[in-house]
Amino acid sequence: MERKETPPPEGDIIAAIGTAWGEAGIAIVRISGEGSRELAGKFLSLAVPLEDTPPRFLRNGSLLDDKGDPIDQVLAVWFAPPKSYTGEELVEIHTHGGTLVARKCLDLLLCGGARLAEPGEFTRRAFLSGRIDLTQAEAVLGVIRSRSDEALRAAVRTLRGELAEFARDIYNEILALSGSLEAALDFPEEDLPSGEEDELVLAIQAVEQTLRDLLDRCATGLLLREGIRVAIVGRPNVGKSSLLNALLKESRAIVTAIPGTTRDLIEEVITCRGVPLRLIDTAGMGPPSDEAEAMGISLAEGVFQDADVRIWVVDGSVPLHPDDLKLAERLPGREHVVAVNKSDLPPGAAEGGRTTAEFVADLLPGSTVLSISAKENRGIEMLKDDILAAIAGGGTLEAGLNASARQVEEIRSAAGFLKDAAETLSAGMGQDVAASSLGEARRAMERLLGIEKDDTLLDYIFSQFCLGK
Ligand code: GDP
Repeated sequence: MERKETPPPEGDIIAAIGTAWGEAGIAIVRISGEGSRELAGKFLSLAVPLEDTPPRFLRNGSLLDDKGDPIDQVLAVWFAPPKSYTGEELVEIHTHGGTLVARKCLDLLLCGGARLAEPGEFTRRAFLSGRIDLTQAEAVLGVIRSRSDEALRAAVRTLRGELAEFARDIYNEILALSGSLEAALDFPEEDLPSGEEDELVLAIQAVEQTLRDLLDRCATGLLLREGIRVAIVGRPNVGKSSLLNALLKESRAIVTAIPGTTRDLIEEVITCRGVPLRLIDTAGMGPPSDEAEAMGISLAEGVFQDADVRIWVVDGSVPLHPDDLKLAERLPGREHVVAVNKSDLPPGAAEGGRTTAEFVADLLPGSTVLSISAKENRGIEMLKDDILAAIAGGGTLEAGLNASARQVEEIRSAAGFLKDAAETLSAGMGQDVAASSLGEARRAMERLLGIEKDDTLLDYIFSQFCLGK
């Protein structure tokens, strides 16, 4: 990322079009900074001027060009500081859509003395005025980028301050822990009594655990944002492509009776209860019969390992094959659901008079085993729910918080330093070393919350925003 020599001056009036480009019903031009209302007033002829209008009241009127001729019929509203998006005096002019009028309105404001806002500058000002913290500022981006209902909910939870609240509590605990250790360091001749030191270790470990729980919630948020990777795995010809089709309710993958036809990976995204599922149909896993198939199988192997959940498809109309058993051995410890397919056919018999489905259930105790028919669309809805249940594990997807990669990194780093601090103390390796680890953990939390206002970091974060936000 390029570092700017001089950060944009704060406190001047900035303006930008806040709505997306292109044809639309309306477009909104935003102006922020002290004097915005007066500046906007020069180009507006409203039923009642903004100066005489209470904040947050929409007024109807005309937008005038520099000669005083009306350009468009508009609505205008102003927000008084600190109760505005940026925390500053802020005006919104709602013009008709299409970019032309909004563009003209913006040009007038720029000629009148406003400066074109940098990407994310409105949100940056909201942060700098203390209206929101850095986790909330970044959540704005999450809200803008959300592509599914649940991802949006996770972003909104962070925006409302859930991540910040949690992180701030942890930060305060770290400060308190640092405090007790620093106090002991101030009197080097009196080391902490060992009872107190043990207590401190336990307290540090407890905070570390809270951070790890927070990481889990962020990981769930990431899944909601990026989509859950669901690998459809199994031997050739068991019905993987048919299952993908059933899940998609449309025919995309090639379905044939010749074993091993799906040589490339096919990925499709569906949403299930507001959660994006990225379904990946893999080549059959088992010994390849030619080179192309070998490549497909090695791709499938990667997907098998990296997926968030695996649907292991077996053909319930025939006994299990030795290759099935090999795959089954690798499932425990990895999130998975078993789909015993072809339930429309008579069940295959396994040893001991059991059906294939019963055999699989005994083979993988504790696993979810479901009878389905991809061909006749049976059990498919239930399978989707089971996929979500497998990924939610003990927790729920509702706990997901939207966090950026940067935020997750800071949380992980803080947890790591706490672990170091606890280990150093327990090993009797010196309180000063432990204190410095605690200091690092504290700094990571400060960067997370934006307590340390680092311009490079702010430039990086806000450069990802679109113009007008
Ligand atoms: P893949 O190699 O695992 O992807 O298997 P396919 O989806 O290509 O299916 C292999 C064969 O099994 C095709 O002839 C499908 O029509 C058939 N098939 C798939 N699912 C079912 C099912 O639920 N019931 C029945 N009777 N046949 C199925």
